[in-house]
Amino acid sequence: MEHILIVEDEEKIRRELQTLLEKNGYTVSAADDFSDIPAVILTMAPDLVLLDLNLPVNDGFYICREVRKTSDVPIIVVTSADSDMDELMSLNMGADDFISKPYNIHILLAHIGSVLHRAGGRKTSLVLSHRGVSLDVLGSSASYNGKKTDLTRNELGILKLLMENAGIVLSRNDLICQLWEMDEFVEDSTLTVNVNRLRKKLADIGFEDYIVTRRGQGYMV
Ligand code: CA
Repeated sequence: MEHILIVEDEEKIRRELQTLLEKNGYTVSAADDFSDIPAVILTMAPDLVLLDLNLPVNDGFYICREVRKTSDVPIIVVTSADSDMDELMSLNMGADDFISKPYNIHILLAHIGSVLHRAGGRKTSLVLSHRGVSLDVLGSSASYNGKKTDLTRNELGILKLLMENAGIVLSRNDLICQLWEMDEFVEDSTLTVNVNRLRKKLADIGFEDYIVTRRGQGYMV
């Protein structure tokens, strides 16, 4: 169940919102100590924050800006000040969406649903692209010119690292260390085998020499 954090200092509105969202199937938390809301958001790591603008200690603009330094948690700013300036500023501060009070319940729910949907999409469509090759990380496959090849976990790990560092030579040691950090245990002896197999698969879908070997240095794409 998706977890929504309500940051709203008017207790009546807060309680109504909490009840409404719980009735609609969300898990809901509501902040009641406003001394350090950015820390509450970062610690709680909800799926979405409903953030009022006018708050006791720090306003919503400040909170948004602070949270955005380290987190891309979806934020919907809820404000009673119905002005274009507020909307513009909220979006500039990194909010995902904006709704003004008094809001229609159905519209609020629709906004929440669409922001959560977009955020979910960010997580599930992890695709890297470089020089025409696309790597579908979750689907564990690479494609080029409409042709697709499935990759093993190790091949996926190696190609992902190379594509994330496109244009940079990664040493064999860099690759092995980073793969181990990703819990992919590739030995030095099997790295060559994996890279060669990856090259063959990429050649099979039409891209010869996508992975370049720099003798004595390492690999790059
Ligand atoms: Ca308020």
